[in-house]
Amino acid sequence: AGLAGEEVRRRRVAVVGAGLVGSLAALNFARRGNHVDLYEYREDIRHALVVTGRSINLALSQRGRKALAAVGLEQKILATAIPMRGRMLHDTKGNTRVVIYDPCTQQCLYSVGRRQLNEVLLDACDELPNITCHFNHKLATVNLREGSLEFRNPQPGGEAITTSADLIVGCDGAFSSVRQQLVRLPGFNYSQIYIETGYLELCIPAEAGDFQMPPNYLHIWPRDSFMMIALPNQDRSFTVTLSMPFDMFSKIQTKSQLLDFFRENFGDALPLIGEEQLVKDFFKTKPQHLVSIKCRPYHYEDKALILGDAAHAMVPYYGQGMNAGMEDVTLLTEILDRQLPLDETLAQFTEKRWQDAFAICDLAMYNYVEMRDLTKRWSFRLRKFVDTVLFRFFPAWIPLYNSVSFSSMPYSECIANRKWQDQFLMRVSAASILAMIVTGGALYVQGRS
Ligand code: FAD
Repeated sequence: AGLAGEEVRRRRVAVVGAGLVGSLAALNFARRGNHVDLYEYREDIRHALVVTGRSINLALSQRGRKALAAVGLEQKILATAIPMRGRMLHDTKGNTRVVIYDPCTQQCLYSVGRRQLNEVLLDACDELPNITCHFNHKLATVNLREGSLEFRNPQPGGEAITTSADLIVGCDGAFSSVRQQLVRLPGFNYSQIYIETGYLELCIPAEAGDFQMPPNYLHIWPRDSFMMIALPNQDRSFTVTLSMPFDMFSKIQTKSQLLDFFRENFGDALPLIGEEQLVKDFFKTKPQHLVSIKCRPYHYEDKALILGDAAHAMVPYYGQGMNAGMEDVTLLTEILDRQLPLDETLAQFTEKRWQDAFAICDLAMYNYVEMRDLTKRWSFRLRKFVDTVLFRFFPAWIPLYNSVSFSSMPYSECIANRKWQDQFLMRVSAASILAMIVTGGALYVQGRS
């Protein structure tokens, strides 16, 4: 086994995609002694004036924190992250209500800037002599069997670069080019769903250098079939994400339609965003699509592997996409530590990961319903209350949200745990109703005799 470990360490690894998962994966391979080439389509974001791409900030939770801690970066990230202790729900009249995530142990989510997190990871990569970063390298073709890769410089007049590696690790996001090659292989299962909902990002700027809403919450405006959320940024602004069915977006064509829609549904947020800014930002970009992808296996022999969104893109409503991608790296490192031959290591990774990856894709879909609709219902509040009480007195009773966000319980176990809790509560409720009927009946009979 030791020899297998040594042999794995000698391999040259090409990581494709220097996003959040790719740069973390590169760090982990390099720390194990591999020579790593990290290839990224975009320019180096540390020198870019504007970084295009998805959400400006992200909710970091336990799984991401654990992966960052393993490479010594957790505290650096938390030092500037903004804790979010619960949800602050905004109704149509502008009233707010706070639902703390974890009243018992006070665990919270952290709002982190995507760019800053990526920059910290890239800086850490620069510190290791056995990582070479190649920016402006867009993977154009890849031959997994031969381990050859062809990149193109996306800049005008950019040349093609051909290279090779012993192991290719695709961290190139939801539309992964590496995965496109896996899809062609017999035995590779793949499914994708685009949801009918799109999203658009707006901003609540800082006012006189301060936050315009309480910063330590994830703000939600649940409106049944659509919703808006806001996460705090370090510059004291909030990034606001409006999620809505595409046909609703398409009905808003004019400035007055937009302002009427906001006055009716998000009256308290409108003055904070500012009418002029809202109109500008809303019509500036088209709503973005959201895709959920399940596939397996994640590897090909001992030659290729996909991680992060490339392996399991999900809708963003559980705030777990990045966290799950980082947890992939934690799991892979644990299996690499067993010092098995590489093909066995990669096979074990797929085997241990796919059910959990499928589970979090499903949970993310479910949480969209919870956020936009269920949070308003009394049944949701009652269940939250029951969960909190039981969790306080029986710590083994871990509510679903806590198990997903504040523990490293495998995602599939989080679902199984919730099912068991549901069944238990159903039985207790049924037994209580039966006891009430029997007692009522006995009292009635006693009263008549
Ligand atoms: P990506 O971040 O997509 O990075 C892929 C990298 O590969 C990019 O740098 C890209 O330029 C590069 N690349 C792509 N193609 C090529 C190519 N051909 N050649 C070379 N390089 C290439 N997750 C959370 O955990 N918490 C949240 O709060 C959260 N909020 C979200 C909000 C929204 C609106 C969205 C859309 C997602 C959210 N996510 C969240 C999910 C999170 O953004 C992703 O799961 C995470 O970015 C995945 O990281 P990744 O490195 O796998 O992929």
